[in-house]
Amino acid sequence: MDIINILPDSVANQIAAGEVVDRPASAVKELLENAMDAGATQIDLVVKDAGRTLIQVVDNGCGMSDSDARLCFERHATSKIHKADDLFAIHTMGFRGEALASIAAIAQVELRTRMHDSELGTEVRIEGSQITDQRPTACAPGTSLAVKNLFFNVPARRNFLKKDSVEMSHIEEVFRRVTLIHYDLGFSLTSNGRLLYDLQPGSMLQRIAGLYGNNYKERFFNMEEQTDLLKIKGFVGKPEFSRKTRGEQYLFVNGRFIKHAALSAAVEKAYSDLLPEHSYPSYFIGLQVDPARIDINIHPTKTEVKFVDEHAMFAILRSAVKKALGQFTLATELEFDTPEEFNIPPAPKGYMPPEPRISYNPNYNPFSGSKGSVKTEKMNERSDTPSLMDDDINALSLPLKPAAPSPTLPSNTCMQVQGRYIVTTLSSGLAIIDQQRAHERVLYERLTQQVSFAPTSQALLFPVNCQFTPADADLFGELLPDLREHGFAIDPVGQCTFVVTATPPDFKESELQVTFDHILTDYKSATLQKYNNRTQTLCASLARQMAVKAGTTLSQEEMQQLVADLFACPMPETSPGGKKIITVVKPEEILK
Ligand code: ADP
Ligand code: MG
Repeated sequence: MDIINILPDSVANQIAAGEVVDRPASAVKELLENAMDAGATQIDLVVKDAGRTLIQVVDNGCGMSDSDARLCFERHATSKIHKADDLFAIHTMGFRGEALASIAAIAQVELRTRMHDSELGTEVRIEGSQITDQRPTACAPGTSLAVKNLFFNVPARRNFLKKDSVEMSHIEEVFRRVTLIHYDLGFSLTSNGRLLYDLQPGSMLQRIAGLYGNNYKERFFNMEEQTDLLKIKGFVGKPEFSRKTRGEQYLFVNGRFIKHAALSAAVEKAYSDLLPEHSYPSYFIGLQVDPARIDINIHPTKTEVKFVDEHAMFAILRSAVKKALGQFTLATELEFDTPEEFNIPPAPKGYMPPEPRISYNPNYNPFSGSKGSVKTEKMNERSDTPSLMDDDINALSLPLKPAAPSPTLPSNTCMQVQGRYIVTTLSSGLAIIDQQRAHERVLYERLTQQVSFAPTSQALLFPVNCQFTPADADLFGELLPDLREHGFAIDPVGQCTFVVTATPPDFKESELQVTFDHILTDYKSATLQKYNNRTQTLCASLARQMAVKAGTTLSQEEMQQLVADLFACPMPETSPGGKKIITVVKPEEILK
C-alpha cells in the first residue's frame, strides 16, 4: 500500500512559515527588506496591536505587474536569483522566494501594487494561501502590503505571542536594525495611530540621532577605514557613554544586520581598559565586503554569517576602532598600575591627567619629625567647604577610625594620588581611599535619607530637554514621581521629550541625559536586583552619576570633608554597588 502523500502547498507553506515567521517582528523584517529590494526610497511601516492585527508596509519601489502580483505568493517565487551561481553575488536582502508565500499561508494579506509606468495597479487578496480576490485598482506607484490577523489559522503560534509591549519592542528592534544602516532611505513607523519615528534620508549620524535622540550625536566617534578586503564606516561610542548592557551594539555587513561573536570581540578588544568593568561600548558599524567572501547561506533568516577572511577582518576592525578612539590612548598610557584589590574604573577618558597639586617629596621621612614636607598647593581654593574637625572624626566609633593627630604630620592631611585615591592616616594604618566610590557612598546615604525629608532642589537657569526612545520614555514616565522626590522638577513635553527645570543641588546639568539613561539601564538590567526596592536603585544610580569621578583633582578641604563624610556613613568600607572603598596598609606592612 502506498502511504506517501505530497503535501498540499497550503500545508507546506504553513510549515515553512514556522521557520520564516515566528512572530510579528519577523514578518516586519521580510516586508521592509522586500521594499528595499524593490528600490524604494520611502518606506512606511504601520502596525496595530504590536503587529497582531495589522502589519502594513507601503513603499514607492518598482511595484509589480499583474501576474507578478499573483506569483509573488508562490513558494520559490523570486525575481532576485535565476541560477545557482547568483547565490555568490547576492546584493539583495531576500532571494529565497519564501517570505510572501509563508506570510500568505498564515495571515490575511492585501497587496496593492503598481509599476511606475502603468496606469492602473493590481489588488490581490490572499488568505491561508488561497487567493480570494484579484482586481485592477487605482493606487500610487509602488507597493502596499497589509498583513492582517497574523497566525489567524495557527492558534498555537498566536497563543505563544508575548504581551504587546514585548512584541512591539521586537518590532522596534527590527526597525532599528534595518533603518540604521539604510540611512539613505526615508522610513516611518506608526503604531496604533501614533507616529513613533519619521526618519528622513541623511547621514548615518543623522539616522542615529533620529532613532535615539539628538543628544546621541555627541556620544560617538566617527570611524572610517578602507582596505582591499573591507570597507568600514560607522560610529563608536565614547567610553564615558558606555552602558551596563550590550544593548546598542550594531554590526552590519553589506547593509544587513549581523551577529558575529568574533567581530564584536574585536570591537570590545579595541576598548580594552578604556571602560569600567561590566560596561559595554555602544557602536554602529557598517562593513562592506565582497559578497563572494561571505557565506550568507548559513541561515538566511538568522543573523549569523561566516566570513572567508575572518582573521584579517578581526585585525582590521580592531585597529580601526582603536584608531577612532585614538585620542584617548595617551591618557591610558600615562596611568599607573592600579592596586589589584581596587578594580578601579579607568579615569573618564577625554581628559588629560591633571598635574598633581600635591607634590610629594621623595626625601621625606615621616619618622624624622620634620614638618611640612608634604606641600599642598591651592589649599584654599574651595574654602566654602567646611574643613574636617579632628573631634568630629574621633567622636565616631567606627572600625576604621582616623588616627589621632600625630605630632609629626599635619593631622589628617590627605594626599591625592593619581587623581583617584585619597591617602590618609587612620589609627589602623595608612588608608587608601577610592575617591569616586567614597563619594558614591556618601551621596547614596544622603539621597536615601532625603526621601524622608523634603527634597532640596535648585532651579536651572535654562531648562534642559532630555529625549528618549518611545519605550524608554514610557518607562521614564513611571519614574517621574521618584525623581521628583529627589528634587528633580521634570515634566513631559511631547511623546519622548521631558523638560527638566530643577535638579538636586550640585547636580551637573550637562550630565542629566546620561544620568537618566543610566537610571533607565539600571532599571532594565537585572544586575541591580540586589537593591531591595525602587528608591534604593534610584539612589544608587543617582549617586553613581553624581559622584566625583576618578581624575578629578580635589582640594585638601574637599578631601578632608569627603573622608569625614565617608566615616559618618553606616558602611564606609563598601560602595552602594558593593565595591571596596578603603584599603588599609597596616603599620607592620609599612615597616617592611
Ligand atoms: P524574495 O525576497 O526572497 O525574493 P519574497 O517572498 O520576499 O522572496 O518576495 C517574492 C518576490 O515578490 C520578490 O522576489 C519580488 O520580486 C516581489 N516583491 C515582494 N515584495 C515586493 C515589493 N514591495 N515591491 C516589489 N516587488 C516585491
Ligand atoms: Mg523577500
